[in-house]
Amino acid sequence: MIDAHIHLEAENYTLEYLNAYIRQALDMGIDEIHVLEHTHHFKEWLPLYEDAINEAPETKQWLLQHDMIHIQRYYDFISFARTQSFPITVKFGLEVCYFPQKEAFIKTMLEDFDFDFAIGSIHYVYLRPYDLKGISEKILWNVYPTNDIYEEYYHLVIQSAASDLFTQIGHPDTIKMFTDYKPDIDLTALYQELAETLVSHHVIAENNVGCHYRYGHPDMGMSDTLLNILKEHHVMLTTSSDAHKPAHVGMHIKDIQEKTFLQNK
Ligand SMILES: [Zn+2]
Ligand SMILES: [Zn+2]
Repeated sequence: MIDAHIHLEAENYTLEYLNAYIRQALDMGIDEIHVLEHTHHFKEWLPLYEDAINEAPETKQWLLQHDMIHIQRYYDFISFARTQSFPITVKFGLEVCYFPQKEAFIKTMLEDFDFDFAIGSIHYVYLRPYDLKGISEKILWNVYPTNDIYEEYYHLVIQSAASDLFTQIGHPDTIKMFTDYKPDIDLTALYQELAETLVSHHVIAENNVGCHYRYGHPDMGMSDTLLNILKEHHVMLTTSSDAHKPAHVGMHIKDIQEKTFLQNK
């Protein structure tokens, strides 16, 4: 079993800290983990967010309230960890917030270091974060029609998959997390276009359960509708917890194993 999206969220990287993730993975029966950091964790990635920062003061305040560190500290830790041996496979990468106008910047930044993988995730729609309780309602959900937000979200997911910048697309339907706002349009055509794009660009899609246990969404991972369309198109799939601390590594991976990997009859 694989957990392909785990946040370290570290200020100080130590082997003890990484080992806590590995111990939990072993306890949960996981053979392979992909650890990463959000790009907003690093000072050098701040230019990625300049348009979002200019778009809404709330976003600026939220982004800058976190202490950012120099990415060299993460690189150095990865280089050190790669000299160690672990009882399971451990890979290192980044979760990149995708903005179409920043593709050149993302490309340069990703070329700077030899990561094992790069996940592209949509966290902003119309340059506004959709997943921040208390902020997103005010600057996004109560401003734009819900149907438009959903359509724009899937356009961005499709663009991220087509960008050839990423090996994997993070949580491809987390736009659903604010359950008070529901679209009343049929998303099937967008799901199909996403599936075709993932296949033609050889990008993996995540069945990510973060939405379920971190935000209380009833779906454990992707919606069955989206998952089935991805499976019909033979999209490469993986499973992930979106853990932000050791205790969440491997969370629900066992529960979604069968529906993610067993082909439907
Ligand atoms: Zn994410
Ligand atoms: Zn994440």
